[in-house]
Amino acid sequence: MSTTGATPRRRSSALGVVGLVLGAGLALIACAAESSDPGGEQLQVVTSFYPLQFVTQQIGGDAVSATNATKAGVEPHDLELSAQDTAQLADADLTVFLSGFQPAIDDAVESLGAEALDVASAADLNLQYTPIADGEEESDEAGTDPHFWLDPLRLADVGDAVAARLSELVPADRATFEANAQQLRTQLEALSDEYATALKECDRRELVTSHNAFGYLAQAFDLQQVGITGLTPESEPSPQQLAAVADFVSENNVSTIFYETLVSPDVAETLAGSTGARTAVLDPLEGLDDDAAGDYFDVMRANLDALTVGLSCG
Ligand SMILES: [Zn+2]
Repeated sequence: MSTTGATPRRRSSALGVVGLVLGAGLALIACAAESSDPGGEQLQVVTSFYPLQFVTQQIGGDAVSATNATKAGVEPHDLELSAQDTAQLADADLTVFLSGFQPAIDDAVESLGAEALDVASAADLNLQYTPIADGEEESDEAGTDPHFWLDPLRLADVGDAVAARLSELVPADRATFEANAQQLRTQLEALSDEYATALKECDRRELVTSHNAFGYLAQAFDLQQVGITGLTPESEPSPQQLAAVADFVSENNVSTIFYETLVSPDVAETLAGSTGARTAVLDPLEGLDDDAAGDYFDVMRANLDALTVGLSCG
C-alpha cells in the first residue's frame, strides 16, 4: 500500500519547473502532514553552500534532505546557477542562504519569492572588511565580512535559527530539531574551547592568508588576519598589495603563509618564495573538496593543527 501511495507524489515532484510555486506549496503540506511517519517524504531544503548544508542536515536529521546549491569542489563566492539549479531552488520547501555572499542565490530567492531563511542576522555579521591601503588604486572593495562559520559559536547561533524555521515548517518534529540544535551547540562550544586552549600561547598571532576568510576566527581567538587578496578569492592582488603583505611578513617574521583548498596556491607560493616563509593549507570551509573525507568538525580540527604549527603555539 505504501508503494502505491507514494507514486502520485513522486510524479508530481517530477513536474518540476512547470508547477513551481504550486508544487512547493503542496510539497510543504505533504511534509507537514507526514512528518511523524518515518517513511514519509522528507522536507526538501536547498542550502547555498557547505556549512549551511552541514548545519541543516545536523539539525534536520532524517526529516530533512539538504542539497547544496554549490557543488563539491566549486568555490562558492561567484556561484552561477544553471536553469536546473534554479528549478531545484524553486521546487524546494526551504532555501537556507546567507544574503550578500552569493549574489546569484540572493537574486533567485527574490525573483522566485522562495520560502527562505537568510542566516545573516543570526550570524551577527559585525565585521567590516577594509582593504590594505594601496596607493590611489582601488583594487578591492570594502564590505561586510560574510565568513561567520569559521567561528564555531556563530555557527551554533545559526543552528538555532535553522531549528526554529524547520520547526515552523514541520511542527511535529520541533522537539527533535531543538534537541539536535542543542547537541550541535555543545559540540561547537567544545570545538571553540579547543581552539581557545590551543591558540592561547603562540609565538606569532599574525595570520597571513590567501583571502580574507578568517576574520571571525581571528576575532574569536585573538589573531591578526592579513589577507593577500580581498573578501573574495578571485580578486587579483595588485603588485602594491603583494608588496605590502611581503613587507608585513618580513617585519613580523611570519613563518607560514596559509593558502586554501579551492583556489590556486600560486600567489601564496610566490609570496612565500620571496620572503622565505613556508606555505600551509588553511581551509575556509566554503566548500569541501571533491574527494574530501570528513565534515565541518574534521576540517576545523585540521585547520587548528595547521594553525598551532604555523603560529608556533603551545
Ligand atoms: Zn570567502
